[in-house]
Amino acid sequence: MEIAEKVWLDGQLVAWAEATTHVSAHAIQYGSSVFEGIRAYNHPDGAAIFRLQEHIERLWTSAKLFRLPIPYSQDEMTEAICETIRANRFEACYVRPVVFRGSGTFSLDGRSCPTHVSVLTIEMGLYLGPDAFEKGVRVGVSSWRRLGPGTSFPSAKIGGQYVNSQFIAMEAHDQGFDEAIALDAYGNLSEGSGENLMLIRSGVLYTPAAWNSILEGITRRSVLSIAADLGLDVRVEAIPRDYLHAADEVFLVGTAAEISPVVEIDGLAVGDGRPGEITKRLLSTFLDLVQGRAPDRHGWLTHV
Ligand code: PMP
Repeated sequence: MEIAEKVWLDGQLVAWAEATTHVSAHAIQYGSSVFEGIRAYNHPDGAAIFRLQEHIERLWTSAKLFRLPIPYSQDEMTEAICETIRANRFEACYVRPVVFRGSGTFSLDGRSCPTHVSVLTIEMGLYLGPDAFEKGVRVGVSSWRRLGPGTSFPSAKIGGQYVNSQFIAMEAHDQGFDEAIALDAYGNLSEGSGENLMLIRSGVLYTPAAWNSILEGITRRSVLSIAADLGLDVRVEAIPRDYLHAADEVFLVGTAAEISPVVEIDGLAVGDGRPGEITKRLLSTFLDLVQGRAPDRHGWLTHV
């Protein structure tokens, strides 16, 4: 991991090595945190953060569901993120705000613990490997299911929930895949360990719905808008596993993975085994927008 010089912790910028917490923190014992993953892009007008307000709003929703009041306003958090990027002189980076319960109790009800807030910025290239855009990625269908109904809030980014994603990612790597696609509790397609799933069949874009145990991704929402702008027919619905192999194109979307074509699933080629034409078009439209080669007509960028 490429470290940054400064980290924002509880209201101030401190040196990376000083951004520490006690090992008795509730978050370390039980995963009691909520977080976000945000990207800033290299833009001719300076670092541009993609859909910052939506990420801040989702952080607040996750915190509300986790009963973890955030001791700052949304404007203060926005400023903290911009300040951290500026302090580290990043032109492009990945931003990781985390709100977590500190030391106070070993009770599973950790609401008496103090709340801490941090903002980390790190360098991040293509999340699913340097060739992900050009050559596409190889995935398997995970033996792990996403969170079942009534077990947690799949739409919230709550730290402890990501143990499920870790199982999915570790199994995928042990099997030699770049990533895996998990099913929901009923066997419908859900998502990757850290990305939403989309597929193209006969020119129609399909993506699993909120009730398929997905995190409702901000990239997913953005790609659905771009697809509509390009005149594609879009369907958000429960999708059977079979569609993965009947699809002409499959791709994963997320802040880290951006739009990564999937070229092989469980050893079977997707389409002709190369990144699909619609996937490539969505990716180039997305990259043109975030890197300033096309106008930001949706107002998705915040300039640092
Ligand atoms: N699903 C999961 C489980 C994730 O962790 C992420 C990353 N936040 C996504 C989907 C994609 O969401 P976003 O586009 O908001 O990054």
